[in-house]
Amino acid sequence: MLGIPTPGVPAPAIPVLAPTLPGALPRAMTARIPPLIGVTLDAEPPGGYSKYPWYALRANYATAIAAAGGLPMALPHDTALAPAYLDRIDALVVTGGAFDVDPALYGEGDRHATVTLKEDRTTAELALVRGALARDMPVLGICGGEQLLVVALGGTLLQHIPDSVPDALEHEQANPRDQPGHPVAITPGSLLHRITGQAAMQVNSAHHQAIRSPGRFAKVNATAPDGVIEGIEDPRYDFCLGVQWHPEFLIDPGDRLIFKALVTAAGG
Ligand code: MN
Repeated sequence: MLGIPTPGVPAPAIPVLAPTLPGALPRAMTARIPPLIGVTLDAEPPGGYSKYPWYALRANYATAIAAAGGLPMALPHDTALAPAYLDRIDALVVTGGAFDVDPALYGEGDRHATVTLKEDRTTAELALVRGALARDMPVLGICGGEQLLVVALGGTLLQHIPDSVPDALEHEQANPRDQPGHPVAITPGSLLHRITGQAAMQVNSAHHQAIRSPGRFAKVNATAPDGVIEGIEDPRYDFCLGVQWHPEFLIDPGDRLIFKALVTAAGG
């Protein structure tokens, strides 16, 4: 490096501060900058961490993105700021949480007794997802984020798997979430298949809802042995991917590849 003496080697006879060459790019434009990956936060009511409303994010969302070469950035729930965030981030990750998408958003007037909402969060996330898709920005939906993504794409949800799927697997697994709950079969030729190079994955399972229909444009890319849809993608976009499991736990080798593919699509 210029100006940094190496022990035992005479310093080169060049100025420490080299003059800026005409046409040289600023350092920020030449250094390798990790793409900025926006990650939606969860929202919690007063209690626990704070006596006032607070945001939450499981740490492994951020560490999985960083390990893949991305720069994670948490996104608060401010619908009015969605365009400004989208101007800055290079990809969007829509996270999960212990709540459901309002069935009215996919045309169902009745709400199952188990359905709970976080309406302000959903409103802000919809603005981010719709804005990201309009820009053809890479989008990864995880668990509840996958369900929101498919609704934004025109799909519909099963409001409660045990009431809709005979002989369903235990999709709210009893064992810890850093262990697999069931396998999924990956659709040959899908984006998910190209990313993982695998015909099947072992995934965790922490959901009581699932996709009923991916809608007119999105395609199913992963299915559980009981037929429950476990992933979707929309080939109208360069990278529009949703998975029903939580790849940030990095259980299957394919999980790491999903984040790597997202960061690569974001310019990393
Ligand atoms: Mn599952």
